[in-house]
Amino acid sequence: MRTVYLNGQYLPENEATVSIFDRGFLMADGVYEVTSVLDGKLIDFDGHAVRLERSLRELDMVNPISKEDLLEVHRELVRANGIEEGMVYLQITRGAPGDRDFVFPDPEETEPTIVLFTQNKPGLADSPAAKKGMKVISIEDIRWGRRDIKTVQLLYPSMGKMMAKKSGADDAWMIEDGFVTEGTSNNAYIVKGNKIITRALSNDILHGITRAAVLRFAQEAQMEVEERNFTIDEAKEADEAFITSASTFVMPVVEIDGVALGEGVPGRVAPRLREIYLEESLKAAV
Ligand code: PMP
Repeated sequence: MRTVYLNGQYLPENEATVSIFDRGFLMADGVYEVTSVLDGKLIDFDGHAVRLERSLRELDMVNPISKEDLLEVHRELVRANGIEEGMVYLQITRGAPGDRDFVFPDPEETEPTIVLFTQNKPGLADSPAAKKGMKVISIEDIRWGRRDIKTVQLLYPSMGKMMAKKSGADDAWMIEDGFVTEGTSNNAYIVKGNKIITRALSNDILHGITRAAVLRFAQEAQMEVEERNFTIDEAKEADEAFITSASTFVMPVVEIDGVALGEGVPGRVAPRLREIYLEESLKAAV
């Protein structure tokens, strides 16, 4: 049984309970982060902590924990649960005011709810899926307009993954006004020659922590990066495509809407970026 963290306490998972009036439960009024663990260490912890603060600020939510304490809780959970490879999930909601009301509760009276738990995923770095590449379908992006805030409103991304599964694919890329926004739980990229193309940051997409690191490493490796919109048709004609996220790192995409990219196997750029990302992130892990 896992040890989890709830509002200042370490508890066995079956003893950690949250009120039925919690606004995370009633209204998806909460934010989250997922930090991966490799060799028992946290990857990109700082980036996740900074984005968490921003998400909370954008929603006028009080941050209940300092960055130092947050790091300590992450480390303690990794230690207590013996995680070598996996993830730490963190969620903060606006708390449980004791009744249901659209109006935000007074933060002086209602404390946020903070939950962290680990997910053990042996083989996360050496994933067979990364060698094979993944298939995506395209679906319409009907999410709300503040995708830069990492909220727990994940119903549509969850439905997108189900649509993908139903059509024999691994994930879905979302399209708005003809352009790819991002994957259901990852940022989307295409490669043309030596150029990596990905949508620029705005409120339309999540500002991926892995995205920031990968683009930095790409530039350091003399690859060209172009931050601009691209269509799904342009993607189908690309040499390569890939996604990034904290839990998949860099993952090649080999098929879009049934159209194979290049030879239909991972190309040169995505696997190389995965290698660099894993190597450099591990060096900087805490
Ligand atoms: N976009 C969306 C919609 C996501 O849910 C995620 C992962 N949670 C990402 C992008 C990738 O972000 P990160 O690299 O910080 O995991």
